[in-house]
Amino acid sequence: MIHQFYPQVPHTYRYELNKDMQLAAAHFIPAAAAGKCANVHGHTYVINVTIAGDELDDTGFLVDFKMIKELVHDRFDHSLLNDDEAFADTPDSDSETFPTTEVVARTIWQSIQKELDTRFNQPRCLQVIVRETPTSYVVYRAKEGDFTS
Ligand SMILES: [Zn+2]
Repeated sequence: MIHQFYPQVPHTYRYELNKDMQLAAAHFIPAAAAGKCANVHGHTYVINVTIAGDELDDTGFLVDFKMIKELVHDRFDHSLLNDDEAFADTPDSDSETFPTTEVVARTIWQSIQKELDTRFNQPRCLQVIVRETPTSYVVYRAKEGDFTS
């Protein structure tokens, strides 16, 4: 069984940075289609983030690895994902906000890219992989139109 799998993102940027993270979190999917996953249960999530760009910042970083850890690990580790504002089951929310592997991957991308958009060297988060179990993972790849700069 493959536990570490890094699908490559085709690109022509000079620099590519990858950050691996592992965190423990619980979640539930409040939908009939989710079956047993409607009950609160936990996973050891394994996450890989790919960031690329042509220019470095004044320190010589594409981005600081620590920033990625703060945005992802510090936010979600040892939490109930459903408590996070991104996954809150509010009256105006729909199935798009349940913390499925896909939505968790997209949420991580959004939060990282929002931070990267403030950097003058314009790094781009090209890919987020979220592995929920040794046999199940999702790859989220942003499309060109998802980037604001
Ligand atoms: Zn689950």
